[in-house]
Amino acid sequence: MFNPRYKTLILITFLAFLHTACTTSPTGRSQMILKSDAELEAQASREFAKLRAEAPLVTDRATIDFVACVATNIVESLEGPEAKLNWELAVIDSQEQNAFVMPGGKMAVYEGILSIATNQDQLAAVIGHEVAHVTARHANERASRGEFTDIGVYIAAIVLGQGHSGLTHTAYEGLHAGAQLGIFLPHTRAQESEADVLGLKYMAKAGFDPRESVELWKKMQKEHEDDAPPEFLSTHPSSETRIEALISQYPSALALMNEAKAQGKNPNCTR
Ligand SMILES: [Zn+2]
Repeated sequence: MFNPRYKTLILITFLAFLHTACTTSPTGRSQMILKSDAELEAQASREFAKLRAEAPLVTDRATIDFVACVATNIVESLEGPEAKLNWELAVIDSQEQNAFVMPGGKMAVYEGILSIATNQDQLAAVIGHEVAHVTARHANERASRGEFTDIGVYIAAIVLGQGHSGLTHTAYEGLHAGAQLGIFLPHTRAQESEADVLGLKYMAKAGFDPRESVELWKKMQKEHEDDAPPEFLSTHPSSETRIEALISQYPSALALMNEAKAQGKNPNCTR
């Protein structure tokens, strides 16, 4: 039989644990965060170094500069703790239309995305969305639900999951079969919607035109009618829902863009 005092102590400890675990995302959604950000970021940093060393990277200066220009404008407009991340970028030499991020601000953009994100504002929509997955700690949320235990597995799942691109897989050959499972675990609908809303805000705060996000999603929708969509065009929410949600954010996003422009933020990123 437990001493009631111990029971109370156990209950208090449990409540304290829950209190630590339940946090609020940047859009006010309650999140269960159980993993250490520092640990995930350290793993991500190692995996990103491996990716940069072993994946084929774009060498064309104009392409790298274009992507880096858009990404830099966005991350430099972040504020508060979000601005403190150590962002790094890899532009991958693959015609796949994709992009992904890792905790701590490690971002990979595939050259193929530029065939659809044809101007700086459309690319800003992609990058804003990906940046939002990081600032809203979506990987930690997934890890906390036990969806993956090692960020390497998570990343390999993303890289391999989109597949068929000619991307070298040597960096990930040693990973166990569990990596494959991650392929079937896209971000949740709540996470995708949140990344859309936050991403729109981030691009607007950097002076990019948020209305171009809808142009991008329309093109993506048309191009991926019949095949598996890239990470940021997951089927949940549907493209229509996604576009409607973005349009509903125009008033606040356009106000942010105008404010940014008044502050002299007029990005001019070209390829
Ligand atoms: Zn996404």
